[in-house]
Amino acid sequence: MDSKINGLHHVTSIASSAQANSDFFTKTLGLRRVKKTVNFDAPDTYHLYYGDAAGTPGSVMTYFPFRGVGQGRPGTGEVGTTLFSVPEGSLGYWKQRLAGQGVTGLAEETRFGERRLRFDGPDGDGFALAEIAGDTRPGWTGNGVSGDDAVRGFSGASLRLRDGRATGELLEFMGYRRLATEGDVTRYAIEGGNGANTVDLEVLPGADRALQGAGSVHHIAFSVPDRAAQAEVRRSLMDTGYQVTPVIDRDYFWAIYFRTPGGVLFEVATAEPGFDRDEPAEHLGEALKLPRQHEALRDRIEAYLDPITD
Ligand code: ZN
Repeated sequence: MDSKINGLHHVTSIASSAQANSDFFTKTLGLRRVKKTVNFDAPDTYHLYYGDAAGTPGSVMTYFPFRGVGQGRPGTGEVGTTLFSVPEGSLGYWKQRLAGQGVTGLAEETRFGERRLRFDGPDGDGFALAEIAGDTRPGWTGNGVSGDDAVRGFSGASLRLRDGRATGELLEFMGYRRLATEGDVTRYAIEGGNGANTVDLEVLPGADRALQGAGSVHHIAFSVPDRAAQAEVRRSLMDTGYQVTPVIDRDYFWAIYFRTPGGVLFEVATAEPGFDRDEPAEHLGEALKLPRQHEALRDRIEAYLDPITD
């Protein structure tokens, strides 16, 4: 494929509490909530989006908070760790900030020459902040984290697999290049990407398959500029034998989905039209926005959803 993919678009995970989730990503990590809407396929559930000022592709962490959902069990066939990019020299600040707010799982390590700080998300989600040199993306500073420390967006994500070969071939087909292997982990990267450039494959042949629940990643989305590029990617994947969904309108982007050989659900999403499609840029994420097809249910949806206090 003459790939049009230029990095990650978003990562979508499952949460147990909308309020705890919103507090963590805004007040603890300092991201901007850029959209408060519902799961278009299950409108009795929120879909919350966090990212930089505009929700630029490559910065967007999203959640379905399912009230009362059981805890996920980590394993293979899923995204294990989602990596955020932070400026060089900021890990000390982050360690102190996260520890001070009771965040668990803090551990410093160096991987592929990058210093990183692992931490647990609100449901035990696997995250790390990685110091990335020369990441010029502006971070969101509206939640009290300075521009010298703010999260820039994702740097990448790590997938846990029983066997990495077929997924590695798929990534190369999508335009990624194999960079290096450290222990069980092989790093792939896209050149000239949007900043969320790396995908790591962690191969664990004896591990059990993951059970999805709170703290699990539901799917990982890759970014293409527009619908024409998405149509090309879709055609190439289908020509190679992948079963890809039709193009689905997600209001803020257009989406296609396909299951990868290692079991991880991939999405390819467009950068257009963006999160300011249905509300002004200065008020992103404040009001509950519903897609047209669910607007008639607004009273029932609002009565059912737990309100989120900012
Ligand atoms: Zn998605």
